Amino acid sequence: MPDFSTDLPSADDETLRAALEQAEIPALLPALAAATGDVALIPDHLRPNTVGMMDPTAGLGPEQQSEARALAFEALRKLRDQGVDPSVDPVPDEDFLRRLLTYATGGSLDVDDYMDLLREELNIGGDPRTPQWRKDELAPDRPFRVAIIGAGMSGLAAAHRLRQAGLDVVVLEKNHDVGGTWLENVYPGCRVDVSNLFYSYSFAQRNDWPEHFSSQQVLLDYFRAVAETNGLRDHIRFDTEVTSVEFDDAARTWTLQTVDKDGREEAIEANAVVSAVGQLNRPSLPDIPGVERFEGPAFHSARWDHSVDLAGKRVAVIGTGASAAQFIPVIAEQTAELTVFQRTPAWFIPAPNYTDEIGPEVRWLRRNVPGYTHWNRFWVFWRSVEGMMPMATVDPDWDGGELSVSAGNDFMRQMLTGYLQAQFGANPELLEQVVPQYAPFSKRFILDNGAWATTLQRDDVQLVTDRIAEVTEHGVRTADGTLHEVDVIIYGTGFKASDFLMPMKVVGRNGNDLHEHWAGDARAYLGIVLPGFPNFFMLYGPNTNIVVNGSIIYFSECEVHYVVGCIRKLLETGAAAIDPKPDVHDEYNERIDAQNLKMAWGVSSVSTWYKNATGRTAQNWPFSLLEYWQQTREPELTDYEVLQP
Ligand code: NAP
Repeated sequence: MPDFSTDLPSADDETLRAALEQAEIPALLPALAAATGDVALIPDHLRPNTVGMMDPTAGLGPEQQSEARALAFEALRKLRDQGVDPSVDPVPDEDFLRRLLTYATGGSLDVDDYMDLLREELNIGGDPRTPQWRKDELAPDRPFRVAIIGAGMSGLAAAHRLRQAGLDVVVLEKNHDVGGTWLENVYPGCRVDVSNLFYSYSFAQRNDWPEHFSSQQVLLDYFRAVAETNGLRDHIRFDTEVTSVEFDDAARTWTLQTVDKDGREEAIEANAVVSAVGQLNRPSLPDIPGVERFEGPAFHSARWDHSVDLAGKRVAVIGTGASAAQFIPVIAEQTAELTVFQRTPAWFIPAPNYTDEIGPEVRWLRRNVPGYTHWNRFWVFWRSVEGMMPMATVDPDWDGGELSVSAGNDFMRQMLTGYLQAQFGANPELLEQVVPQYAPFSKRFILDNGAWATTLQRDDVQLVTDRIAEVTEHGVRTADGTLHEVDVIIYGTGFKASDFLMPMKVVGRNGNDLHEHWAGDARAYLGIVLPGFPNFFMLYGPNTNIVVNGSIIYFSECEVHYVVGCIRKLLETGAAAIDPKPDVHDEYNERIDAQNLKMAWGVSSVSTWYKNATGRTAQNWPFSLLEYWQQTREPELTDYEVLQP
């Protein structure tokens, strides 16, 4: 019997073999090649030869897989017999790293571009993203305070890096605790839809995640632990909401007006402001006539009312986005009747292990194969994001109408349609209602382990696709005149994502109001800065969202790196503030807009929160993750007007 309680030094061969059966080969072979220095572990014929979320085997056939596992077994046995410490990550030299990367990416690209990014992603050299400078060295006598608005995922990352550089940091958080979206969204079934290997900070990797896609409580605990371990709590003022932020043209500083939970107001001065308020935290209630007339309990998914007992009730859910798709299967277990109102069906990506705990084999691998967790993180990054971009890109010669934007995209559509057919095949009427009539990547995919089809095919669950005409005192009336009587209404209707930074008032140079300036069409340079608002930095700002299921933590870390770089320049040069040049901002936005129109989500007419009221894609980043990383590496002062004290 394999014994996964033993670690590498004392594990027997059977344990090694059993664990390796569950390993992801594109992560396993480079990890072991790096640990042994043996290039024979990454032969060309065992390279992953296909990429995509749909194929966890990376296109390796059964014979290739068993050859790979046999090679891995010999290598791991050797490491065990040599007494290698599995917690020590090997540090390959440049040439060897290039060969490993060539293998892991299937030899499909010019890997040189990815080398530095890979080094960071693999944490080679122990947190290479740590600022390599300290304020004391650059400007010991200059008072310089950074105010960060929000202690969610982005705000914590910013606070951590700025503290590492020795900056005076104050974090202002409206809630009573850290965690942002993971504190506020407590609906049943709430969990992340990106592997936690990737949905985690590069500087706080865990090899002991309990689930592949952690549930809300696990993630909230993770962010609490990061705040604790890195001493961030002392710098956070909880229950403190920022109502306005105003630039003082003479002093070249910012004043933040705050109000605490008891209504006490306070003004806080700062040299720089980092807004980390998130994009998806102001619930959007639908503009349906009569919403206020309903007499029973009604609430939004992000404001879940746990005092309402759904057991035995008739419940309506409006919306079938990522949030609703998570809570519908859970509440269907309790409700007497569940009526799901769907306006647009989603494309579902099969993820059989979506709600599973991580098994003992994979836990063992992550603990005992040197570097495996890091290479696994890179493999997730590669197969679920970077390698998917071509399938989301419009081929101008492809004539797929609304249904597809390229041959690759159409292949994806057929695969995903096949998945729905397999799930709903016994129910042709329902199948017709759930197959999207728009190209994949126009909206965000939803991960599925089969729960969606199982739930919608229950006798006590009804899917309604007729347009909603009104909400009445007793239920929801559809356009055909049917009144669906219910006891409770739950709105899974998303967020006011286009209202960036609302309802905070932000006033820049010369009294310029940010929201008037944007007029509902938020833009920024790199999603971080905008002209007229010196030293005002945004995290998860305009055009920094991803459709391909990448990790938003990756973006936040890139943004934070850039902000830290800007503050370094301020301290090095003695400048009071930097204000991005309008032409740099405008040219950047033209490039973003042009590229978004080459992506499935940009050309599709389907309803999404990616576009604002002007029809512009104001949310999404249309290039590769590598490009965002490259562009946020090093701020160029030539992009800025430099304001002296
Ligand atoms: P969402 O994706 O915006 O979905 C809102 C749903 O409500 C859609 O089905 C929408 O229909 C429907 N809707 C809106 N207004 C309506 C109306 N007037 N009448 C009928 N239906 C209406 O919101 P969400 O599900 O909260 O997700 C938002 C984003 O949060 C996601 O895209 C994702 O980025 C993130 N998220 C992530 C996770 C995760 O990681 N697991 C979980 C939840 C959310 P249409 O499609 O027709 O607009």
